[in-house]
Amino acid sequence: MREEFRLLIGLQDLDIMIKEVKDKATSQELKSMGFKLTGLEELQEARHEIAARIPVALLNRYEKLAKRYKLAILPVSGDKCLGCFVKLPTSFFSSAYSHELVTCENCGRLLYILRFNQ
Ligand SMILES: [Zn+2]
Repeated sequence: MREEFRLLIGLQDLDIMIKEVKDKATSQELKSMGFKLTGLEELQEARHEIAARIPVALLNRYEKLAKRYKLAILPVSGDKCLGCFVKLPTSFFSSAYSHELVTCENCGRLLYILRFNQ
């Protein structure tokens, strides 16, 4: 998997964690379970570091998608986009398998093929 993909996925994971920490309902729930809500600064710092390593054009694309969708970058399952569940064209797979950054033509999300030996 390309480095850019790894970085983007890491960035998205951090965004989800940051959101959860910030989310009030979740915060209350975590507090009631005895968790301390520390680590927001560390998360944001890590996000900053990862973001700095992603090419600007790609980062901008991610940020735009992240505003629209809960998940901006997703793995492909079977022959469908897991964001909008539209069947992907054959041409998609030839690009995806050559490690290119591919976009779902229907919803615009960034997609990658999950493989376990990389
Ligand atoms: Zn899609």
